[in-house]
Amino acid sequence: MSVLTELATAVSSGRIEVLDLTAPLHHETPILALPEQFGQTQPFELHEISRYDDRGPAWYWNNITTGEHTGTHFDAPVHWVTGRDGQSVDQVPPPRLIGPAAVVDRSADAAADPDFVLEVEHLEQWQAEHGSLPEGGWLLYRTGWDARGDDPAAFANADESGPHTPGFSVECARWLAEETPLLGLGVETVGTDAGGAHSFEPPFPCHAELAGSGKYGLTSLRNLDRLPPTGAVVVAAPLPIVGGSGSPARVLALVERD
Ligand code: MN
Repeated sequence: MSVLTELATAVSSGRIEVLDLTAPLHHETPILALPEQFGQTQPFELHEISRYDDRGPAWYWNNITTGEHTGTHFDAPVHWVTGRDGQSVDQVPPPRLIGPAAVVDRSADAAADPDFVLEVEHLEQWQAEHGSLPEGGWLLYRTGWDARGDDPAAFANADESGPHTPGFSVECARWLAEETPLLGLGVETVGTDAGGAHSFEPPFPCHAELAGSGKYGLTSLRNLDRLPPTGAVVVAAPLPIVGGSGSPARVLALVERD
C-alpha cells in the first residue's frame, strides 16, 4: 500500500486522529490591543449579503472583515521589521506548512506565574528526555492559556502595567531562532511573545528573532494538551494573502493512536 493510501485509511479508521488546534473565529475571538498611539487590528466580523431572502432567494453568504492576526493565525517573517526582506504569507513554500511537532508542557508553571517565560535550560531538559527538536518542525508551547480563549479579558490578563501572559526569554527566543532547525513556534496566547515582552531588553524577542531568521509563528492554538510530546504532525494552512504579513489559519494535528 502506498504511504498516502495508508494515511487515508488510518485517518478514516481513527488510527490517526485529526485534532483541530484552531480556535473558533467570531466577533468575540480575542485580538491584540496595542497602546492607543498605534494602529489597531480589527475583530473578526460577518456581514450578511443574503440569507434565502430577497437579496438572494436560494443562497446564504457573508462578507468578512478581519485582521491578518486574528484568532489562530500564522505570522510570516515579513510581519516584523527584522524580517522585512523575508517571506510574506503567500510566499511560504507549501512543504513548510506540514511538519512534526515537539510539545513542551509548562502549564503548571504558567498557572503559578502568568509571566512565566521559557528558558533555554527548560528546552535542554526537554531534549534530554525526548530527543532533539525536529528539523523542519514546530515547537508547540503548552501553557494552559487556551482555557481562557472564550474570555477576552482573561485571555489578555492585563492590568495597569500591561498584559501578563507566558512567553519566552530573550535568550530562549534567540536560541530557538539561531540554534535550532525548527520552522517556528506555536503558542496558545495571542502572540508568540510574552505579554510583558514590550519591556524586555530587547523588546518582543520572539517576533524579532523568529522573523529575522525566516521562522514562523502560530498563535491562539487549542488542544495542545491532547498532543504527545513527540510524534504528532502539524498542518498549518494560512490563506495565501499576496504580500500579507500573516493570516488566520486552520491548524490541524495528526496523532497516531494505539
Ligand atoms: Mn501575529
